[in-house]
Amino acid sequence: MSIRLLKSKEDSGFPLKRRRSFRILFHMKSVLVQCARPWLLVALITVLFLVCVCPARSQTNNYEFNDSHFHLTNNIQEGPNIHEFLNMMGTKAGRVAIFGVPLQQQWSYRTDGDRAPTYYLHSDAPLYYYSFTDALIAMAYRSLTKEQQARFDPMITGFNPTDMYAADHIRRVLETFPGVFTGIGEFVVHKEFVAAKIPGEVASLRNPALDRVLDFAAEVGLIVILHNDIDIPFASAVTKRDTEPAYLNEIKALFKRHLNTTIIWAHTGLGRVVAPATNHLALIEAILRDPDFRNVYTDLSWDEVAKYVVATPEATKQWADLIQRYPDRFLFGTDSAAPTDQSKYLKVFYQYDPLWRALDPETSRKVRLSNYERLFDEARHRVRAWESTHIPAIP
Ligand SMILES: [Zn+2]
Repeated sequence: MSIRLLKSKEDSGFPLKRRRSFRILFHMKSVLVQCARPWLLVALITVLFLVCVCPARSQTNNYEFNDSHFHLTNNIQEGPNIHEFLNMMGTKAGRVAIFGVPLQQQWSYRTDGDRAPTYYLHSDAPLYYYSFTDALIAMAYRSLTKEQQARFDPMITGFNPTDMYAADHIRRVLETFPGVFTGIGEFVVHKEFVAAKIPGEVASLRNPALDRVLDFAAEVGLIVILHNDIDIPFASAVTKRDTEPAYLNEIKALFKRHLNTTIIWAHTGLGRVVAPATNHLALIEAILRDPDFRNVYTDLSWDEVAKYVVATPEATKQWADLIQRYPDRFLFGTDSAAPTDQSKYLKVFYQYDPLWRALDPETSRKVRLSNYERLFDEARHRVRAWESTHIPAIP
């Protein structure tokens, strides 16, 4: 699927429908002259509304999914250019929340010699915050046409969440690249092996610097994607008992402190070596059920999480049952990082196939498509409004 083909598909959308709606409007006018009954007027206005407005709202109905979690680059800031990635999205992915990876893996010659690491697990050398990632993402976005840009929600990630100045970085990125970003993240607080590889202060859910970031996100309307493992790595093997997950209470306290911030808790707190405890779904349900956490959503992303969801038919059914009880609170994301071709990009979506089959069609559509549209559209709208009042126009 080439970009040219995609463009012609998009081009054929609104203008054609708009022309059709004008013809209908003209026809309606003559009908209205003859029939003055109010109920008929209401019915006709409703039809007109559906013809004119609905196409703009169901913009991704023809795609398989929207991707709420995508890294254009890897740990060394390499990846496909955004035009190549558009080809990978093809007719499968409608819209994508796009970001880099804020943590750069250092190539330490003293540690690794000529073996250049490309992933955080490839080396004992440290990771460091690489703020230029936000400029890379913004410039990639700006290289697209307006129609292509409409399919992306760029996210700011290049800040250190232990720094009281982190919120100032986010503000500066918005000021430098107005009209581009929709949210912040995916950024990491507690994550297996990653958190310990960053020199300096260890990130914490209790750090006021993080509160400052989330307060600023609420003020601007930025949607937040936060990675925070629910527990330490290999928890049941390490503790030898079924204890409460290490970070559960802290993350709940954080969510409660920021009721006006829309937060997507990535992976429901699971990860490569953070397996779901036997009561994991009950813990997640307790959050989704509680009105105090109405600002919290979660994403089903990452092959390392899909492996738990599709491990057995029973596991898939339990996840599907939970999602169907809270169909508005889950989003699908690939968590693909710097894919080299379409099959690699789509791998996680197909890995979740047993889940897609287990969900009723309406819930499946919400998780794959419409929850994304609702949340990211609202964030886009709010961020643009904040920018229009807080960023002086360039003369
Ligand atoms: Zn993550």
